[in-house]
Amino acid sequence: MKNNLIEINTLLNGNRISLSELTIEEIGDEHISTGIETPMMPHAFDMSDEEKIRKIEFHFKEIMETMGLDLSDDSLKGTPNRVAKMYIQEIFSGLNPANKPKIALFENKYQYNQMLVEKDITFYSNCEHHFVPIFGKAHLAYISSGKVIGLSKLNRIVNYYAKRPQVQERLTIQIAKEMQEALGTEDVAVLIDAKHLCVSSRGIKDNSSATVSSYYGGKFENEQVRNEFLKYIDLKTNY
Ligand SMILES: [Zn+2]
Repeated sequence: MKNNLIEINTLLNGNRISLSELTIEEIGDEHISTGIETPMMPHAFDMSDEEKIRKIEFHFKEIMETMGLDLSDDSLKGTPNRVAKMYIQEIFSGLNPANKPKIALFENKYQYNQMLVEKDITFYSNCEHHFVPIFGKAHLAYISSGKVIGLSKLNRIVNYYAKRPQVQERLTIQIAKEMQEALGTEDVAVLIDAKHLCVSSRGIKDNSSATVSSYYGGKFENEQVRNEFLKYIDLKTNY
């Protein structure tokens, strides 16, 4: 499959640079990712979820105590366990391939060659540089080759990849590649419009800016087709 369009965001101030020239702070502040695949350790799933929860609970308690919090307080006591469970079972559950949604396709000759758009899919993710939320809307489209996908499956694909530590550009490409594979076509479009709490609640503290990233494959590289998609989604989302 052709590797098109989105170049991972290695442009900084208009100049192409290699990541090795950047400091760790610059990589985080500019939200630069290093590749399309989520960087994982080779034995990432040797440990069971239960073991991971126990280990994270232990270390999160250490973090809280290091900050001086008194874990004997009734309100704080259960926090390390709550955080650990939330990481593994909810907000980072998309790291585990076992949680990948199963995709069933339907034959639908009537929709052959038509653009199918699923817009305003709400998602919640987390920035891999700061571990604070990224949230917004994903808009997906594909041109049917005679097969269609259940609409809830598109939501599930978005959610699966959102539930990882992420960079918006990578999230965009991972969703697009998954759609291309599931649907057996290059003709997919993904546009994500999101807010990053690491930009609005810390760092430069910009409350109003949003980040838009997109991927256009196959027929969507054609300007007319792309404009049709953009007209459908009418990018004035409120969230
Ligand atoms: Zn961030």
